[in-house]
Parts: sequence; structure tokens; C-alpha cells
Amino acid sequence: MKILFLFIDGVGLREAAADNPVNPEVCPTLCRLISQHGKPIDACLSVEGLPQSATGQATMFTGMNASVFMGRHCEGYPGPSLRAAIEKNNLFLQLRARGKRVKFADAYLVDSAEELAARRFKSVTTVMALTTPDVLSFTDDLVDDLAVMQDLTRDTIQDRYPDIPLVTPEDAAAHLFELARVHDFTLYEFFQTDVAGHSLDYGRACAVLRLYDAFLAPLVRFSQAAGITLVMTADHGNVEDMQARGHTCNPVPFIACGPHEQELRDSVSSLVDVTPAVLKFL
Ligand SMILES: [Zn+2]
Repeated sequence: MKILFLFIDGVGLREAAADNPVNPEVCPTLCRLISQHGKPIDACLSVEGLPQSATGQATMFTGMNASVFMGRHCEGYPGPSLRAAIEKNNLFLQLRARGKRVKFADAYLVDSAEELAARRFKSVTTVMALTTPDVLSFTDDLVDDLAVMQDLTRDTIQDRYPDIPLVTPEDAAAHLFELARVHDFTLYEFFQTDVAGHSLDYGRACAVLRLYDAFLAPLVRFSQAAGITLVMTADHGNVEDMQARGHTCNPVPFIACGPHEQELRDSVSSLVDVTPAVLKFL
């Protein structure tokens, strides 16, 4: 079994509303996956306050309740104690221990793991990927279409890297699929949805969700044809409520589409269950 794991930042589930851009007109493929292959799961993790990225993602990728561990929801980049916990045990390390071929598809515009490790601020996925450095993708990989930019199209890097050509979201899907075909577990992280949610700009949120949907539609077709299980979830809600600048307490979608999809969904009721469920089926 092969899993293509799409982590989408800041997309929660909420009833249809004029300020909810997660609707079939804006993102038909995402909405179809949610209704036909998804279930709502808890991202609040039994801790007061609004769920945040560092603890939500750490929970998603370790199977430990990071908000309980920290005594609160932690924003943005993990601090020293959370980093240490991620470095000790995470999904990539567990998959590696089982001899699985693992890829983190997001391109880092550096030349080596050492250069990346020297960065002061590192996301949960960066900390995790540095524990198994050969899963990382660098500038050369992006140039060779063996990685995907976090914005999908490379638009945000054109001023710094004018020689790296733009791609369409459909191209990005094809590049990601090629990676998923030759690895047991491939992760792609997209956080522009969370950025758009914080902007309070409904038009921007719609544009980002449309872009992601144009990438998702061919990816679903490719994965289904190849028998690769697509798994998708979010660390907390945000963009589904464009009235609120911060995150939301809404449940997040857990989507599984492909072989063992029902068993995967049955295994997950909160972010704590995501890593154990992936490990159970790989
Ligand atoms: Zn987040």
C-alpha cells in the first residue's frame, strides 16, 4: 500500500455560509472528497483556547497530544521542548524504522540539510524531516520537477529565482504523483489556505482554494488509477470562517480515498489518531 498524504493548513468544517469559501462552487473536488471520502475529526485536543499550528501539526505527525504535553496550544514554529519531542519520535522516523521509502515533496530552496538545519525558525514538518534528512527536497530537485513548491506554481519565488519556470497546478499534481508512485509515503504540505484565512480577504481565500482544487482534481484521478491512497487532513480550522481573523474550534476534515479508506477513517477521530492510523496500514 502507498499513501500520498496532503496536509492542508487551516481548513476546518463549517456549515454553508456567505463567508465560508469552502463550498462546491469554489473548490468542487475538495468538497466532493469531504462529503464522499471524509469525516470530521477533533483538532481542539481537550485543551482550552483556539488550536494552533505547532501543537496541531506535532500531534498530527507524532501521535502524541502535543497540546496536552505543552499545557496549551502553541502557535507557529515549535519551541525547544516541542522540537525535542518531535525529534525523538515522529511519523518519518517510524516509517524509516519499518524500511519504508519516504518523501517530503515540498522544496526547500537550500542546497543541503545542514543549511536547512541552521535556520533559526523551523516548522514541525521541517524538524521532522531533518530527523530523516534523505526525505528532503532541495533547489535542484525543484528545477528537475522532483519536488513541489509550497505555493504550487512557484509564483512566490519568481523574483528570487527567475530561472525556475512557473508551472500550472496541474503540472504540480503530475510532479507530486511521480513522487508518490515511487515512495511508500509521500507528504505534501500546503499552508497558503491558512495565510489566506488570516488575511480576512474572502476573494483571496477563494483564489487560493481554487488554485488548490485545480491541483487536487488531477491528483485524485492519478491516485485512483494507480491504487495509491490519498489521505488529507488539517491542523485546525481558519479559512472556513472568514469573519474571524484567528483560527477556529471547528472540526477538521480527515479524508481517505483509495485502498483501505474506510478502515483508515474508522481509525481516526482526532489529530492524535492520524500517525497511528498511517502506521497501521503501512
Ligand atoms: Zn496551522
